[in-house]
Amino acid sequence: MQIRFWGVRGSTPTPQLENMLYGGNTPCVEVRVNDHIYVFDCGTGFRNLGKSLMQERGNTPIYAHVFLSHFHWDHIQGIPFFQPLYENPDNYFFFHSSSRTRGLQRAIEDQMVDPYFPVDMSEMAAHCNFFDMDEERVAFDDCIVQSMWLNHPQGCLGFRLETDNGILAYCTDTEPGHPVYDRNVRKLAENADVLIYDAQYLPAEYEDKRRGWGHSHWREAVSVAIEAGAKELVLYHHDPDHDDVCLDAIVQAASQLYPRVRAAREGDVISI
Ligand SMILES: [Zn+2]
Ligand SMILES: [Zn+2]
Repeated sequence: MQIRFWGVRGSTPTPQLENMLYGGNTPCVEVRVNDHIYVFDCGTGFRNLGKSLMQERGNTPIYAHVFLSHFHWDHIQGIPFFQPLYENPDNYFFFHSSSRTRGLQRAIEDQMVDPYFPVDMSEMAAHCNFFDMDEERVAFDDCIVQSMWLNHPQGCLGFRLETDNGILAYCTDTEPGHPVYDRNVRKLAENADVLIYDAQYLPAEYEDKRRGWGHSHWREAVSVAIEAGAKELVLYHHDPDHDDVCLDAIVQAASQLYPRVRAAREGDVISI
């Protein structure tokens, strides 16, 4: 399994010099299992993944399963700019998520309706298929994906991808403190080789003024990793106001409690 980070920033893109070490694009993680492509979230990093796939595949059709944690802008904004959706009628994309208030397809399409975007999804040549999912355990090519609800305004799904060689847990946009969702996070992360977890705030920021906003912090990330027996912790969904210096300090502090920790950085690859 190969995990590649295309977007790591939470809430909104931050193309600022002081953030460039870790990156300014919003969430997108690509996972390769053998030749199969799995994607978690379609923030602005999704655009660069599209360019990379076009370069790699040329005219060879692309098949990918795309899992959306939820529909806040920072997790879907790359979709209108994802070139492989427009280019090749033999490309197939399978979108998986749950939209509680409207159908999954509509939740994705509506960000492109008039007057928000000049073309809509009917302009896309690729085949798009939409699979509404709840808490499920589904077999895909060479892996199993488990989804569970997390603690976030308007809902958010966390995912666990299992292969013969390893386990990845993708748990972003979640706040600690609710017994059901705290348990879900730990189930998803149980014995994971890599745990990608929401560490948007500093612990003090969270306590002071961010309770109820649906995000977590690095100290909780460390607790989850230890309690779940995760082998590597990746802090993710960085706050727009946390620059490279701040993120370095967070990693330094977290590594005192849990040595195998890093802050997700655009372009980083982890192989399991
Ligand atoms: Zn988010
Ligand atoms: Zn969100």
